[in-house]
Amino acid sequence: MGILQFSLIRPYYRDTKINSLKSISVKLQDLLLVNDYIEDYQLKQTTKYISDNNVCAIIFNDQGDLLFDIDSLGNGCMLDQEISFAQKTIIPKHEGIEINSYLADNNEFTMELTNNYTNLDMVMYGEKVQGNLSNYYIYLNTPIEPVDSLVLFFKTQYISSTLIILGVSILLALYIAKKLSNPIVSMKKSADILALQKYNQADFKGSYFLEIDELAKTLNKATNKLSQIEELRKDLVANMSHDIKTPLTMIKAYAEMIRDISFNDDKKRNEHLQIIIQEVDYLDNLVKDMRELSKMQTGNYLLNLSNFDIIKALNLTLDLLKYLIDKNDLKIIIHANSSLIVYADEIKIKQVMANFLSNAIKHSYDGGNIDIYIKQTIDGVSFQVQDYGIGIAKEDLPYIWDRYYKIDKKFQRNIHSSGLGLAICKAILDSHHARYGCKTKKGEGSLFYFELLQENEL
Ligand code: ADP
Repeated sequence: MGILQFSLIRPYYRDTKINSLKSISVKLQDLLLVNDYIEDYQLKQTTKYISDNNVCAIIFNDQGDLLFDIDSLGNGCMLDQEISFAQKTIIPKHEGIEINSYLADNNEFTMELTNNYTNLDMVMYGEKVQGNLSNYYIYLNTPIEPVDSLVLFFKTQYISSTLIILGVSILLALYIAKKLSNPIVSMKKSADILALQKYNQADFKGSYFLEIDELAKTLNKATNKLSQIEELRKDLVANMSHDIKTPLTMIKAYAEMIRDISFNDDKKRNEHLQIIIQEVDYLDNLVKDMRELSKMQTGNYLLNLSNFDIIKALNLTLDLLKYLIDKNDLKIIIHANSSLIVYADEIKIKQVMANFLSNAIKHSYDGGNIDIYIKQTIDGVSFQVQDYGIGIAKEDLPYIWDRYYKIDKKFQRNIHSSGLGLAICKAILDSHHARYGCKTKKGEGSLFYFELLQENEL
């Protein structure tokens, strides 16, 4: 912008001056051409106007007579000084015929000259106009003001402010670049650590920049998730190998016993075979549970929602568990109306009920009671199973819904136990958006409950 202004300011100023001379010439013509002379009362006004504009003026007629002369510039006016004009040296005010002859061919001219007294650049304008009695020759002269010092002042200002702005911008750019690149460099280091699977050491640090901060947060979340998955994978392998190894050892031991000892003792052999079948059943159930849970946790299944009677579903579930209940001499007391309709996935809800109930059976003392409550609540239907068995310690309670969590392996009846039951219940109840939980006291029993919220029409 500075360069543009510096190069344009001089020609622009010159053109402005020429245009102002032209408009003064037009004014003079307007006055002249009415009567072929300028009236006295107009003279004063015109003189003032011309002087105010820093212009000197003369007008000749065809004979070279000086009709009008205003010299408000003194030494600054070139009209009464020698000038070089059309290869001749003339004093315009004294040589009307000479200078008029130049306008014989051209109706106007513009000339730039330098005043030797004042050292100012000047512009001269001449114009011929046709009057009634004669042609009139108007010559006007004005200095082009010294814009150089102004230009220099602006130039210095522009250059110094440009340098300051440039310096500040460079410093700012360096600062911002550093602030931007530092966290990215540190993130790259963390990503390298992450690639080495050192999840605990990979810490993505944020910065002042919102986007980078968000990125760091997301990467930290991803790292946590990866670390959890890694933990889960390790757990899974450890638990699975443990859970599978124990029954396999049993199967091998009993098979060897049949081969070496009980092969011709019908009673013993059948007993041993029964244990083998039991262990194989256990393995079969374990694999089924694992498949089920993984299917549910990957969200790879759809709920088959329908209206069904939850009391009827409970009775069907209890029928399946009848053998265990009777075997352990347990008494089941149902506190519910004869029927209650809910909107849910019947098979999955039966699975949850069976799990809660078989857990209650597993952890009750022989001959004890188990209370089952099914109630209509304000926003749904609740199902509760209260046992009066061993209960759960406070410190174990938060983990019982995790997969493979088993508290006391010794106190378990002969029911298949994989540590996956409550994890499956949790997945089912979560997908139903149900409320669920456990209230328990070690040594006094446990209450497991869920509440199906009936947000859908029945
Ligand atoms: P499992 O197949 O071992 O029963 P679950 O996931 O169903 O696995 O239960 C996890 C653990 O929670 C059980 O191993 C048991 O220690 C504890 N638990 C569950 N229900 C009860 C209960 N009614 N009373 C006492 N402990 C229970």
